[in-house]
Amino acid sequence: MSDKTKFGFQTKCIHTGNAIDKETGAIRRPLTMANSYRLPEDASTMNWSDPNQLVYTRNTSANQMYLQEKLAALEGGEDCVVLASGVSALAGVFFTFLEKDAHIICSNVSYIAVYRLLKEYFPDKYGVETSLVDTANLQEIKAALRPNTKIIHIETPGNPTTRVSDIAEIAKLAHSVGALLTVDSTFASPFLQHPLVLGADLVIHSLTKYINGHGDAMGGAVIGQRELIDKIKGQAMVNLGGVISPFNAWLIMRGVVTLPLRMKQHSESALEIAQFLESHPAVEFVAYPGLTSHPQHEIAKKQMTMFSGVMAFGLKADVDTHNKFVNSLELIVPAVSIGHDESLIVYVGPNDERNHFYPDEFKNGHLRFSVGLEAAEDIINDLKQAFKKCRL
Ligand SMILES: *Cc1c(COP(=O)(O)O)cnc(C)c1O
Repeated sequence: MSDKTKFGFQTKCIHTGNAIDKETGAIRRPLTMANSYRLPEDASTMNWSDPNQLVYTRNTSANQMYLQEKLAALEGGEDCVVLASGVSALAGVFFTFLEKDAHIICSNVSYIAVYRLLKEYFPDKYGVETSLVDTANLQEIKAALRPNTKIIHIETPGNPTTRVSDIAEIAKLAHSVGALLTVDSTFASPFLQHPLVLGADLVIHSLTKYINGHGDAMGGAVIGQRELIDKIKGQAMVNLGGVISPFNAWLIMRGVVTLPLRMKQHSESALEIAQFLESHPAVEFVAYPGLTSHPQHEIAKKQMTMFSGVMAFGLKADVDTHNKFVNSLELIVPAVSIGHDESLIVYVGPNDERNHFYPDEFKNGHLRFSVGLEAAEDIINDLKQAFKKCRL
């Protein structure tokens, strides 16, 4: 097809990375489940670890390459590396760009594996220094900057508090000391927010969530300049081995096709449901970036087009009642993960190891709620009957 770069986002979701299969004429590129590819006639000068050549599936696979092409286009980045999970993408970034005695600034509320990697494993094993700060507060970031700061890592909106951090302003702070700004944009997906355009150096996604969108495959991706992505490919993919299965890459490629439609519906339903919850007398708080009551609503409006489908809320009730509420739900499924077609809810009790970092209203535990694609009315009715069963 002609120049695909000029197409709109929705068109890229469908067409970028796809082509007519040369052998069969199929209008979808096939799923290629093979561990190895035919070598050139003279392999004597070959780089056996080239992550951009089809040699061995740990170096990359055909389906992985198609997905990388699509995701790079959707984020407006030069290149992309797809890995086995969101965590392997995050760990890959830290492994590649943090050296002995380097310093990293990270949000004090971020995905649990990031918290453990940066608070415990990297400091204990490699002498990396980590400052955990409230990244919604630019002064806190500024005060934590050091000459050896290599990365500022933010997650926006953040899991599970939905904290929003100002990507453009933090990019300036990072670049003032020559550090990279890495942004976990999983909650937003490439449809609602473009961190690279705002000055970030690397965008990270758990493909497991909105990008695949159907709750049936895991994957992770990092997008940015080719030079940075090639380093991650070499160090964290070929040599750590967290490569994605071609089948999962194929499934995720199919999931992305409907990303714009899904994100619009998730965002519309979530706003309606967040407003319903906020008006309910038994609800202690609702944290959702689309609500005017959200502490960073203005920043969210500046850098996101809609506010996605995840919120956190709490009830004016004890731990047992929170559990009873979750178990009274008939449509919304009690399960971890976010961004699936079905609505998912988890009650995270007050024993969570990061509880002391959460805002005050989270202290009695919180419900993390990923609003699915069911009719919003059915979701609200399910919440209503659960409130009734709990006498709330
Ligand atoms: C789920 C999630 C991850 C981890 O992704 P996996 O695919 O489960 O490894 C990272 N960041 C955020 C914000 C997430 O929600």
